[in-house]
Amino acid sequence: MSDLLSVAQARERVLGAIRPLEAEPVPVAAALSRVLAQEVRAVGDVPPFANAAMDGFAVHAGAAGRRLVIVDEARAGHPAQRRLGEAEAIRISTGAAIPAEAEAVIRIEDTTEEDGIVGLHAEVAPEHNLREAGEDLVAGALVLSAGSPLGPIELASAVAAGAGELWCARRPRVVVLGTGDELREPGEALGPGEIHNSNAVGLAALAEEAGAEILRVGRVADTRAATEAALREALELADLLVLSGGVSVGPHDHVKPALEAVGVPELFWGVALKPGKPTWFGAQEDGPLVFGLPGNPVSALVTFGLFARPALRALQGADPLRDSLSATLAEPVGREARREQAVRVRLERRRGELLATPTGPQGSHILSSLLGAGGLAMIPAGDGELPAGAEVEVLPL
Ligand code: AMP
Ligand code: MG
Repeated sequence: MSDLLSVAQARERVLGAIRPLEAEPVPVAAALSRVLAQEVRAVGDVPPFANAAMDGFAVHAGAAGRRLVIVDEARAGHPAQRRLGEAEAIRISTGAAIPAEAEAVIRIEDTTEEDGIVGLHAEVAPEHNLREAGEDLVAGALVLSAGSPLGPIELASAVAAGAGELWCARRPRVVVLGTGDELREPGEALGPGEIHNSNAVGLAALAEEAGAEILRVGRVADTRAATEAALREALELADLLVLSGGVSVGPHDHVKPALEAVGVPELFWGVALKPGKPTWFGAQEDGPLVFGLPGNPVSALVTFGLFARPALRALQGADPLRDSLSATLAEPVGREARREQAVRVRLERRRGELLATPTGPQGSHILSSLLGAGGLAMIPAGDGELPAGAEVEVLPL
């Protein structure tokens, strides 16, 4: 680990190893949080026909004071049967198609009605209270481009544009394994020297948030044989494998030699980063991407955010670093001479400025200072401290 890569170099290696996953059609109602693989264009005009913006009467344009015979009704989903003739009005509801020959809609509040006759109390200009066909989207217009993450607005827009299915990147299949004899399942009683496997649940949740389908969340004992067996099984199933712990050089750290034995070439081991220095990454040609993350809980979650999440995004064809922000440090932060630091910060807006305040003790085992942290402020390596007021890059967690 003599030549540590910078965070940016390490991420470049990760992204360089990505081969985007194939696309599959997904019913639009099931596509939340997926990434679009093919652009969406409007199948037809939106709205598809000229319609009323108000409840009232479809009429010809003209002066106030007219009295017109009500000859038909246009309701939403039920167009009028007749065309509009001279001295006639057609009752109309919001969203109903404008009857043929009608030029505008007068709202109900500007009318009075008696015995089938409507009196107009306002002048009616052409096009008044009328929504044209294609006013939102014209047929063929680009609605969403490939690579867009699909949120609620994207889904609603796609449906309005006529889509029933969306071509999305297949969800990356992920296996998460915590290594360590000390690990126990969530809620299990602890024996001497044991701790709960918090990394596996946290890492799987981060992966799921980044679009992954989680195939397995488990733990592996600290033996070479158990590690190799778990790796062989996971490599068969996964597009991306996340391990935590066992990646350093202690006598019970088996991850690196086991990965070598099962034939996953190392692309890097060691990043000039705090926390997260012993991060390992490798990939087989045409095989899954493998992240050997450090075991310390904060290191594991932070390095996932810096390297594995961008990989999951890129596998799905999305911008890997879409949500990186710029913020102002609220307090000075001591720099590390040779390592970039990912400092847990609370984020708040003050007078249009995004302020980043460190959340407290930054030890790699202090998970509680990650609670309530809105992101990680990246503090460049250097001497002395980075002063309050400095601009820093912040990666949301
Ligand atoms: P290691 O990298 O295996 O030496 O582990 C470093 C530290 O992280 C040790 O204190 C481990 O007990 C702890 N650790 C390792 N794996 C996990 C895990 N899955 N969940 C919580 N803590 C862990
Ligand atoms: Mg261990």
